[in-house]
Amino acid sequence: MTINYQVVMDILTSQLGSDAVSNDPVRRFAWSTDASYFRIVPEIVVHADTVEQVKITLNVARAHNVPVTFRAAGTSLSGQAIGEGILLILGHDGFRTIDISEDKSSIALGAAVIGSDANAALKPFNKKIGPDPATLASAQIGGMVANNASGMCCGTAQNSYQTIKSAKLMLVDGTELDTGCPHSKAAFSQSHAMLLAALTDLAELTQNNPTLAARIRKKFSIKNTTGYSINSLVDFTDPFDIINHLIVGSEGTLAFVNEITYHTVEEAQFKASAMAVFFNMEDAASAIPLIKGDSVAAAELLDWASIKSVTGKTGMPEWLSELPEGAAILLIESRANDSQTLDSYTSDVIEKIAHIKTERPIEFSKDPAVFGQY
Ligand SMILES: Cc1cc2nc3c(=O)[nH]c(=O)nc-3n(C[C@H](O)[C@H](O)[C@H](O)COP(=O)(O)OP(=O)(O)OC[C@H]3O[C@@H](n4cnc5c(N)ncnc54)[C@H](O)[C@@H]3O)c2cc1C
Repeated sequence: MTINYQVVMDILTSQLGSDAVSNDPVRRFAWSTDASYFRIVPEIVVHADTVEQVKITLNVARAHNVPVTFRAAGTSLSGQAIGEGILLILGHDGFRTIDISEDKSSIALGAAVIGSDANAALKPFNKKIGPDPATLASAQIGGMVANNASGMCCGTAQNSYQTIKSAKLMLVDGTELDTGCPHSKAAFSQSHAMLLAALTDLAELTQNNPTLAARIRKKFSIKNTTGYSINSLVDFTDPFDIINHLIVGSEGTLAFVNEITYHTVEEAQFKASAMAVFFNMEDAASAIPLIKGDSVAAAELLDWASIKSVTGKTGMPEWLSELPEGAAILLIESRANDSQTLDSYTSDVIEKIAHIKTERPIEFSKDPAVFGQY
């Protein structure tokens, strides 16, 4: 079926208004990249600020067989925030609600809320959201959930999959589902009984196949954000729990995410970081199993190639240029809720690897400016 994009454009403009829709070549070109290598020029760009606008867009797209790609902050690295057909961009004003529960154990976030804004709202309560991609200051909740983004500290323990409480979603047929609302779930059970039954069957089938279930568990015990979170099929039996978790990592292919409620996680009040510089990769790698445990919240290994790639760049320590070829760095972060415990953690780390020769003494810094630089 050939798509007549001018017709689609006209219908969308009449229903959404000309401010929200554009097929201007310059705008289309401007929205044709994300943080990946790829360029795909959309035919139509829609800015949506409300669920109603998303519903209208999906209805028109469905009627005219037009593909739709959702886009939040567009920091994706594999081209998943660009697409042909309609590019639906979370608007400038909409999907920005932040609602913290009374006991601070959860936070409901509109899909366009920037990760660091959510954390700023939680900071007075020593809480934060789990996911911590390096792009936290730009990435938006819809994109973070749909990519199952995670960073240096959250790993697989506090990513969206582990910390999602409920989601407000819109399926491609326009149906809205709030997995945290009993009324919404009851209505969905009536309207989508077959879908729920199929999910239940799929989970049962997967769980009854020990080889497959074990393989999925093993794959998802490490960071694995390629493809759907099919671990939901071994972790849950309730189809609404499965939907909740399948959305995580679905890259906009299963539903539009309107709002996500996360369980909040504790934000340690005291932190210290050290850059342990080893003469070679083998020594750096041998330190890792020794320091693993409560004393270390996160560690990142930099090989010689990565050290060379940043040496001399703005903001980098000057001493990087003096390192011998083949050096390796272990960036270590310790966290605690009181200063004494933090000191005991950092001493513990230094003691455990004291026998390994390092290029410079290992020193932890509690200075936010220093560990921010690290
Ligand atoms: C320098 C750099 C560092 C990065 N570091 C990390 C890192 O440490 N960890 C990590 O995991 N990633 C990292 N990324 C990748 C990326 O920043 C994250 O995955 C981020 O969470 C994406 O969020 P976004 O708002 O930019 O989403 P986008 O890129 O806009 O979209 C991401 C996906 O979500 C879908 N989507 C967006 N909104 C919705 C919605 N409302 N409903 C349904 N689907 C939706 C899109 O279609 C797309 O498939 C990095 C990227 C860069 C450029």
